[in-house]
Amino acid sequence: THFGFKTVPEEVKESLVRNVFSSVASNYDVMNDAMSLGIHRLWKDHFMRTMAPTPGAKLLDVAGGTGDIAHRFLNYQDNINHDSTSSVHMVDINPDMLREGERRFADSKWKQEGRVDFTVGNAEHLDFIEDNSFDAYSIAFGIRNCTHPDRVVREAFRVLKPGGRFMCLEFSRVSNPLLAAAYDLHSFYVIPKLGELIANDRNSYEYLVESIRKFPAQDDFAQIIREAGFTTIGSGYENLTFGTVAIHSGFKF
Ligand code: SAM
Repeated sequence: THFGFKTVPEEVKESLVRNVFSSVASNYDVMNDAMSLGIHRLWKDHFMRTMAPTPGAKLLDVAGGTGDIAHRFLNYQDNINHDSTSSVHMVDINPDMLREGERRFADSKWKQEGRVDFTVGNAEHLDFIEDNSFDAYSIAFGIRNCTHPDRVVREAFRVLKPGGRFMCLEFSRVSNPLLAAAYDLHSFYVIPKLGELIANDRNSYEYLVESIRKFPAQDDFAQIIREAGFTTIGSGYENLTFGTVAIHSGFKF
């Protein structure tokens, strides 16, 4: 292939992913805006409105990275629910990404109120999280980097309380052929070029593009969610921006 990372055996994927995110951590937020023209912010806003957390909810934000989802959750609770009892626990496999997240909360009132927590850990083995302990689980732009997405979803099922909701925001498949062609152009030329220019790291961004290609399409991923025990409503997902990304969700009943 013409990608930097080509196809790698399963056992090296995890360490590779770790390196990619260590190398992108400091440029991560800038790159997100550049690659998506800022649209990732709208996707994340919509994701939080879809979650519509209830007052007092405990959220587990896995692959939380620099904390975009955690921030939106706490803002939503403060501003929409006028609630100051809810909390979010961020988990990420990469200490450098998590540190960027912690930095963003360092001077916040949320930190003072003890409403944010951080743990370095793997989405596939959340041993440090008890069964039935969270109201909501989120994973945004993280699951495609995991070696076994099915294990990730099963762990989500385990840690959620009955009635709890699993929510995933991830790149997906554009079905319209014309738009898909434009999207391919963006993926194969624009993104690696931006990675080279802004982050001086073409390889990592080639990996990111490749990981998007390999992730299951909307219906296949919805099936994985149901197989883990979740109940989905309708198809189990909503496409955003023509399927460039999708929100999948399921309830633990
Ligand atoms: N959720 C954040 C957001 O939406 O901006 C960060 C997304 S970032 C593209 C992906 C994150 O997934 C990285 O911080 C990476 O370290 C983390 N990650 C990759 N594999 C993981 C795993 N197996 N377990 C937990 N986190 C993982």
